[in-house]
Amino acid sequence: MRGVILTGEGGVEIKEFPDPKPGPEQVVVRMKASAICGSDLQAYNANRERVQKRGDVIQGHEPSGIIESIGPGVTAVQPGNRVTIYHYLGCGECEQCAAGNLMWCREARGLGGGAHGGDADMLLIDERNALKLPEELSFIDGTAIACIAATTYSALSKIGPSGKDTLAVFGLGPVGLTGVMFGKAMGARVIGVGRREIRLNLARQLGADEVIDIDKVAEPGKALLELTGGRGADAAYETSGSQDAFAAMLHGLRRGGRAVFVAARASEGRPLSLGPAIGKQLTIMGSFVMPLHMYGDLVRFMLAHDLHFEPMVTHRFPLEKAPEAFALFDSGECGKVVFEV
Ligand SMILES: [Zn+2]
Ligand SMILES: [Zn+2]
Repeated sequence: MRGVILTGEGGVEIKEFPDPKPGPEQVVVRMKASAICGSDLQAYNANRERVQKRGDVIQGHEPSGIIESIGPGVTAVQPGNRVTIYHYLGCGECEQCAAGNLMWCREARGLGGGAHGGDADMLLIDERNALKLPEELSFIDGTAIACIAATTYSALSKIGPSGKDTLAVFGLGPVGLTGVMFGKAMGARVIGVGRREIRLNLARQLGADEVIDIDKVAEPGKALLELTGGRGADAAYETSGSQDAFAAMLHGLRRGGRAVFVAARASEGRPLSLGPAIGKQLTIMGSFVMPLHMYGDLVRFMLAHDLHFEPMVTHRFPLEKAPEAFALFDSGECGKVVFEV
């Protein structure tokens, strides 16, 4: 089978691998779709030596597909089942795995990092990571559930935006756009803060009540205050990882406001003042992936509000066009970019 490898500094290769065979409690999934994530860009842009140290690991942690074969002892899924993938492998025996926090298992391995990912014809995965996808949800929806929808659902659950709230979403890449869509479905008034016409337009299409273009507004925090009658947003979802966005978030939140952040970038060299968080008594939380047990809630939420991810996908590529797909996603001039296998 074919698998996509990132070799650093923009290098992308398509290599041949032996077809995987499922061991006990493992399954092989025939890929139907696999999406590129903002976090893939770290390996894409990383120093060549650093990336090559990890060997030929197939990229991609946002896959969905159809169960091709099952190993001994597998009972939860059968060949032919449509599935999405939980993208952290755990030992299955420790207390974190028992709690569904596979991403916190001491032996956790992420797809596309510690284990082969889904930018391939097939994926070998533990049975517990293959989650049945209801008929109403597409394989594209499945790729989103594997990462951006799960991350966003878990993060927003921590700050609980509702019809009483104005939710500010910082960063309008696919994770931020998911925040716009989910925040609206949860009942909030949503203000998207980001850049690039294509992404600002996607935010509007996905339900943002207002958008702030940070390339046109000197102080996005102040713009947020203006859009909320001087009061400030009730809640914020920070997906950009930029210190400027974080500072604007502190400025633009109301007293007693709450925020959750899911992205962090290396410091841009300027110390960030957390002063406003004290004076305003802000509640600020980090959030990482999603516990496995939230999957059912997330699926019910998506079905109840008829939420789908096709509108966010601006480009689809076959695996052999992987170099083009990664270069486009790296440019930012797109929404979600997906391989269709
Ligand atoms: Zn992802
Ligand atoms: Zn474990």
